[in-house]
Amino acid sequence: FDQRDGWIWYDGQFVPWRDAQVHVLTHGLHYGSSVFEGERAYGGVVFKSREHSERLKKSGQILDFEIPFTVAEIDAAKLAVIEKNGLKDAYLRPVAWRGSEMMGVAAQHNKIHLAIATWEWPSYFDPAQKMKGIRLDMADYRRPDPATAPSTAKAAGLYMICTISKHRAERRGYADALMLDWQGRVAECTGANVFFIRDGVVHTPTADCFLDGITRQTVIELAKRRGFEVAERRIMPDELGSFTECFITGTAAEVTPVSEVGAHTYVPGEMTKILMDDYSAEVLPKAKAA
Ligand code: PMP
Repeated sequence: FDQRDGWIWYDGQFVPWRDAQVHVLTHGLHYGSSVFEGERAYGGVVFKSREHSERLKKSGQILDFEIPFTVAEIDAAKLAVIEKNGLKDAYLRPVAWRGSEMMGVAAQHNKIHLAIATWEWPSYFDPAQKMKGIRLDMADYRRPDPATAPSTAKAAGLYMICTISKHRAERRGYADALMLDWQGRVAECTGANVFFIRDGVVHTPTADCFLDGITRQTVIELAKRRGFEVAERRIMPDELGSFTECFITGTAAEVTPVSEVGAHTYVPGEMTKILMDDYSAEVLPKAKAA
């Protein structure tokens, strides 16, 4: 992915894609001092840009560093890099990390870098195809206790178990894996949050030890706007068989129906379809009020 044409915004400058590199002694590489975001632009407008920039800053602070750009500067840089690459419908990947000035666990004086890459990512999909749903495996690893890891940060280190779990799921023929948390409750997928439906009620795990996704928050709001009851609560795996619909949410996944979780099957239905359509409408750039 590193050998492409295009521009990456790197510490305030545009750098040719192939030249946007780091040193092998980068602290972020050795000790996981790296945080990132995943965002999308629809029609040249970054969906919930400020929320993503604020989360990025917050993730850095949780890892004990301050990204040397303001939320407004980061928002502007995202728009600039999309434009520089001539994109409208795009994925954005801001990433911030500790540099390579000192080697060791402590590295208070290492420079904090910020880069923003973006590439084309159209959001067209065939709704009929998508409604068939994806299959989820059950992951072996559990989301860590918030007393064990900074679980609310979108920190690179927390993705180690996600990559292992996703690889295992794919080897076994599944699209992704559902992870439990340290207490054995249903938590989230390797890069998306999870929702269930039963008797007209939307259920989703309380985000107390995993990422409270911006898509998750948006879908909860959309569901409430529709008058659906939303229950954010503790969900144990023995309840999985009692739900009739299931879907996952995330910047990349948007709202993706699920047909199977481990031994349980679901038929994506009317409520999933409504939320999928409402989300697609929500992300479209809004005409500015006169
Ligand atoms: N959980 C994890 C582990 C993720 O990587 C993501 C994707 N950022 C999400 C949930 C969904 O978050 P969002 O809706 O903000 O993209």
